[in-house]
Amino acid sequence: MEKERKLIIAGNWKMNKNVAEALDLIQGLKRELVQVKEVDMVVCPPFTALSEVSKQILDSNLRLGAQNMSEHSGGAYTGEVAAMMLKEFSVRYVILGHSERRQYQKESDELISKKALAAHAVELKPIICVGETLAELEGGKTEQVLATQIRGSLAGLTKEQMGETVIAYEPVWAIGTGKTASTEQAQGAHAYIRSLIAKQFDDTVARRVRIQYGGSVKPANARELMSQPDVDGALVGGAALEVRSFADIIKNSI
Ligand code: PEP
Repeated sequence: MEKERKLIIAGNWKMNKNVAEALDLIQGLKRELVQVKEVDMVVCPPFTALSEVSKQILDSNLRLGAQNMSEHSGGAYTGEVAAMMLKEFSVRYVILGHSERRQYQKESDELISKKALAAHAVELKPIICVGETLAELEGGKTEQVLATQIRGSLAGLTKEQMGETVIAYEPVWAIGTGKTASTEQAQGAHAYIRSLIAKQFDDTVARRVRIQYGGSVKPANARELMSQPDVDGALVGGAALEVRSFADIIKNSI
């Protein structure tokens, strides 16, 4: 399948896997995916497994991502982790503004944009999550919500930084629920997000930005979703915790 942009498929392990389990998973993924060149593949373990996973993937085609970081570069922020600390483990990507953090940690678009700027300052690529809740979907507010989140979370980025940013469209009602957006819903939302980026930045940047879909992606629905023109990859939760399902999502997307 010829795509305009290289696919990027990332696994968000969330608060799962101790170090031994993380190493098991990564060994399996390395074995299964050794031949894959067509997709940028990213794993995002919890902070506590970054060091060990990092050592295991140094010589592989897998890249490392973190699930969050501080907006500050260092100092008296107990419990926080700075972007530069992630760089020590060769982390290349960082998920920002996941809906679980927006919901449980009350992360705002303004905070997410500060984190995105802090990530870019050390050449870490943010994966910025946006998406509407079920109530917003049912209230016909999807576009309004996406417009607010995109404007706010990308505020202050230069065109250059935007080009190096990944967006994950994750309808909240599809995360961990087994409900997936239809291909039309996903394509429609992605095209809309790209049009917002074109307005906020420019057409060239909008054409370059990769927009992942996230929300109950599985081996069985990956091919159809990835075949949509504005769907440039996936952010995978539950199905990223097993070698078989994550590897099959990637293989079925090629
Ligand atoms: C996620 O949490 O980013 C996600 C998409 O989860 P799941 O694939 O389990 O729906």
